[in-house]
Amino acid sequence: MEKLVSLAKRRGFVFQSSEIYGGLGSVWDYGPLGVELKKNIKERWWRSMVHERQDIEGLDAAILMHPKVWEASGHVAGFTDPLVDCKQCKNRFRADDARIKGTPGEPTAQCPVCGTTGTLTAPRQFNLMFKTFMGPVEDQAAVIYMRPETAQGIYVNYLNVLQSSRQKIPFGIAQVGKAFRNEITPGNFIFRTREFEQMEMQFFVKPGTETEWFGRWREERMRWVQELGIRPEKLRWHQHGKDELAHYAADAYDIQYEFPFGWQEFEGIHNRTDFDLSNHQRHAGKKLDYLDPATNERFIPYVVETSAGADRTTLVVLCDAYREEEVEGEPRVVLKLKPALAPLKAAVFPLVNKDGMPELATRIYDDLRRRFNVFYDDGGSIGRRYRRQDEAGTPFGITIDGQSTQDQTVTVRDRDTLKQDRVAAAQLVEYLTQKLAG
Ligand code: ATP
Repeated sequence: MEKLVSLAKRRGFVFQSSEIYGGLGSVWDYGPLGVELKKNIKERWWRSMVHERQDIEGLDAAILMHPKVWEASGHVAGFTDPLVDCKQCKNRFRADDARIKGTPGEPTAQCPVCGTTGTLTAPRQFNLMFKTFMGPVEDQAAVIYMRPETAQGIYVNYLNVLQSSRQKIPFGIAQVGKAFRNEITPGNFIFRTREFEQMEMQFFVKPGTETEWFGRWREERMRWVQELGIRPEKLRWHQHGKDELAHYAADAYDIQYEFPFGWQEFEGIHNRTDFDLSNHQRHAGKKLDYLDPATNERFIPYVVETSAGADRTTLVVLCDAYREEEVEGEPRVVLKLKPALAPLKAAVFPLVNKDGMPELATRIYDDLRRRFNVFYDDGGSIGRRYRRQDEAGTPFGITIDGQSTQDQTVTVRDRDTLKQDRVAAAQLVEYLTQKLAG
């Protein structure tokens, strides 16, 4: 992980938030390449979940919501992790932290950091929602929360979307947006942060059909993840045991990836039953049931949710792409990103800064950048320039050499095979379009 974090900073993928002030705990900023990578992942998700499907609509709900939403959703009461403190070293852990030996609160329990026994407090509840105040008066009446999940914005809008889009059940609503959790044990770079982005889709179905839809969505989501180019042996399913299920879920499967720090979830598929809609109906006092036009039946739909973290998925993609190799007797670090996900699609290099090469290279660069995100680099030896783009995950390196100014052809180097093709400059757009498809 250290190597990846350092590459991420060096190449402009991810920086620590407010770094010049010493950083802010578990908050990260995306640099020029990181923002492109994450955007490519989110756009891919949106395309497959919204544009390619007739039965899913998009939504962008506000982060701030009526405080009663979080009472109805169970987050005010239940969105807590019992915590224990070590009175000796002052560290704080989740009570279910596997590293704690013994029962917290008992004299035999051992602190996983300082190793002292009998210094762990009994578990206490802690609310993970960020609180803020609406309006200028900081009184209890004005307390609102930063949403800890995007899903609730979908539930409270489900009838608006249904009626305005003229969808019928079964149908879904998809949303990409920020969520905030005051995590107790954040860490591992962008794996668990306090501010993050979710890509969530809630699929509303007739009660009794949720198990079938749950199965379909599990298949669909695993297919999507594999199409990101992740090595299949690094992916597996994990079904939640009874003690792991969230307060709203009847069944849940996580897609896990084998990170450098072990197997961990980055997407969950949940059967949320009618938990959320029923609770909103009760708390808001508004009817949220659905009238089935075919049978005239009224029911509260069941919900199958697919919930992925955009940042965590970005971390999966980065971890999976990171390789250290030896090429031509030299070590190299390369991000073998799927070309469609790569932040930069190609880099343009004049071999030397004379003999008409920079002029031709600039013309090619100007032409390509109307279609693709490309980079121009004339600094240092050509080998050094290739290495920098390998680290950035740029799939193609276009070199303009002595021959180019004679016959208007260039070499295109493939990041992974290192093979060089000689391509007519006029054919480059077509060549890259073909290679980047998929
Ligand atoms: P965890 O137990 O790992 O914190 P969770 O089970 O609480 O996650 P969900 O509530 O199911 O997570 O959220 C769905 C997805 O949102 C997760 O799979 C993850 O990708 C992302 N996510 C949740 N919490 C965070 C966080 N603190 N930082 C980054 N991504 C997160």
